[in-house]
Amino acid sequence: MFQDRIDLLKGNHCEVIQLDAEFAIDQGLPIYLDWTCSIVDDEKDRNIILAIGIDLTQRKRDEEALEWLANNDPLTGIGNRRGFQHDLQKVLDTQRNGAVVFIDVNRFKQINDLYGHTVGDNVLIQIAESLRASVRLTDSISRLAGDEFTVVLPNIKADQLEKFLQKLSEKLCGQLFLSREGRWVEYSVSVGAALIPLHGTTEQELIVHADMAMYQAKKKGGDQWQIFDPSTNDLADIRRDHDLTSLLKQALKRTDLFELNYQPIYCIKSETVSHYEVLLRLTDLNGNPVYPNDFIPAAERMGLIRLVDEWVLDHAISKLATIWEAGTHFSLSINISAPTLQSNTFPEILNNLIRKYQVDPNHIIIELTETAYIENFQMVLTNLTRISESGVMVALDDFGVGFSSFSYLKKLPLSYVKLDGSYILDLENNLDNQVFVESLNKMVNAFGMRTIAEFVEDEVTLRKLEELGVEYAQGYYIGKPSPDLSEMVAGAGFEPTTFGL
Ligand code: C2E
Ligand code: MG
Ligand code: MG
Repeated sequence: MFQDRIDLLKGNHCEVIQLDAEFAIDQGLPIYLDWTCSIVDDEKDRNIILAIGIDLTQRKRDEEALEWLANNDPLTGIGNRRGFQHDLQKVLDTQRNGAVVFIDVNRFKQINDLYGHTVGDNVLIQIAESLRASVRLTDSISRLAGDEFTVVLPNIKADQLEKFLQKLSEKLCGQLFLSREGRWVEYSVSVGAALIPLHGTTEQELIVHADMAMYQAKKKGGDQWQIFDPSTNDLADIRRDHDLTSLLKQALKRTDLFELNYQPIYCIKSETVSHYEVLLRLTDLNGNPVYPNDFIPAAERMGLIRLVDEWVLDHAISKLATIWEAGTHFSLSINISAPTLQSNTFPEILNNLIRKYQVDPNHIIIELTETAYIENFQMVLTNLTRISESGVMVALDDFGVGFSSFSYLKKLPLSYVKLDGSYILDLENNLDNQVFVESLNKMVNAFGMRTIAEFVEDEVTLRKLEELGVEYAQGYYIGKPSPDLSEMVAGAGFEPTTFGL
């Protein structure tokens, strides 16, 4: 080829030729030269070939690197989202038979928070390596984003896929040694898969179904695998959880979907409001409200509640600091869910925020429900003891429903007990509830704690509570949850009647 072109030049068939050539080898790597050859006369009028070569090696390597980066993930060396889409499309265009697998690292955020991003990165690299070792040459592996990995498997049947997923979920659970700390970090994954063409024939369908299967696996408790099952009874629930999860993830990143509301807690005797309960509000992408009783349990099931609780803590404590700076003092009561209370990082996260915003810990109340400590009493007790030692108060929410063991009242470092609204709603007419409220209030007081009655919706209820000796009241009659905390704080000495429904 090269010789043919030179011959053309020699035979005077053309004056200049251009040649791209992969020429020599520099320490094992090819060198790319761009040659321009022409016939010129030398001083004795003889024809000679003048060849000028430009070294294009660097440019070529830069181009190759750019092309690689467009389809691959620099951290792990496996494909990226674009690579995944490309490989999946290839299977859809050619074989039309195979599977898409979604993998999510369990509690990855916790690993990052506890041990830092370098350890998090190393976990991802280790998972990518185990993935590489688990797949066939024809399969393609990618990291979609963060802690989400995918495998595209051309030509695989359901029974083979089951075996593969079983093997995969075992191989992708591992541990990483931290030499500085001298300890191991454990990690595990949840795996979901969708079959081509059974569960979808387009990229969009397959992604949604593999992702939903992964949520099905996560719902089973993590470290599990699941092939998408469209016949399952709880498919509607799964779809809802799936949609809520993606909404919550967006709400955590954006600024316009989550909003904090504040509801006054009224001291009956002093006729003042000095506490506000923080209640989280969420709107979906169409601007419709999503209720805490829906999204909080979903966030708990999907392992997102710790991030949600942290978001609330951060924004509420920052708000407390801002309004305090303006000169008015009050306390905020913040609901915290079981998984957060049971995690050993909770006291540290709370203390860091208290330091960051320079607020008085005595003016923060943490509300927990009984379900928070049923599973892991010791851990919750340790955490609550730690936060109350630093000055933070603790309230037991929704008391009276569920298992209500009085023995726990004594063991936990509580300052407040909130009587569940179901005992308060019809207090005036329900004598049993009056007896319950009065005796519980006496017991709570005997332990040195205070009672707050929830769902106070009218004047007669408020007066009844006063008669029964209850110290605090909260409910629509006192004030509805509202985002305008500054405004409410400014009118804190109000007469409750002016705030009625
Ligand atoms: P909760 O902590 O017991 O909050 C009281 C709920 O009762 C709130 O509902 C409040 O809007 C409602 N409420 C207040 N006054 C009245 C009244 O007079 N009558 C009636 N019928 N209801 C009243 P919301 O805001 O929908 O919250 C529901 C639950 O969601 C909360 O129950 C709490 O367990 C959870 N939650 C809310 N915000 C957060 C949060 O930021 N983090 C966590 N982890 N959980 C939260
Ligand atoms: Mg509450
Ligand atoms: Mg409550």
